[in-house]
Amino acid sequence: MIIKKTFKFYAAHRNEEIGGKCANLHGHRYGIECFFEVRRRNSISTPFAEFDERVGSLIKKGYDHGMLIHRGDPLYQTLSEHMRVHGEHLKLKVLDGPTSVENLAYTLFSEISALGFALMKIEVRETDTSVVEYTLSDWKADRAKFAWRRDDVHPEKQFGALGVPSTSFSDACVTVLDTEA
Ligand SMILES: [Zn+2]
Repeated sequence: MIIKKTFKFYAAHRNEEIGGKCANLHGHRYGIECFFEVRRRNSISTPFAEFDERVGSLIKKGYDHGMLIHRGDPLYQTLSEHMRVHGEHLKLKVLDGPTSVENLAYTLFSEISALGFALMKIEVRETDTSVVEYTLSDWKADRAKFAWRRDDVHPEKQFGALGVPSTSFSDACVTVLDTEA
């Protein structure tokens, strides 16, 4: 049995790799659809409120009205310095790769699974017309790829653990993960 839950959050980001308009700071209303595998326990499986409380809380605290930023983006250093100098806290959601919707899907999938839910699929919507559908098998493949990259200090891996772009859509800051080892 699958339970589908929908969440949303507002966040700023940019994609410094793609360039053009996507390299500018801008924002999206991200839509998240989670497909959880559940087992019936008596009349119900998992109370809907459990997803709202735990997944909703993760998204609200970690993402909503924050800024998605790649650890390797020079802007991250600038913002960190700004916080240090001015004593101002900015809500930054730091990713190990460019803040493409694919890398966001990987990060969200990892974090929601870590809460103990059996997540089968996640859909991440960046604009009205651009959605990434990301399955458990996609996540397993990405996790296997990124695991060794985290410890890899090869200078060509300047964009960090989440890969480099190979293509992009015109209306969304989408980066397709590099599948080469
Ligand atoms: Zn964007």
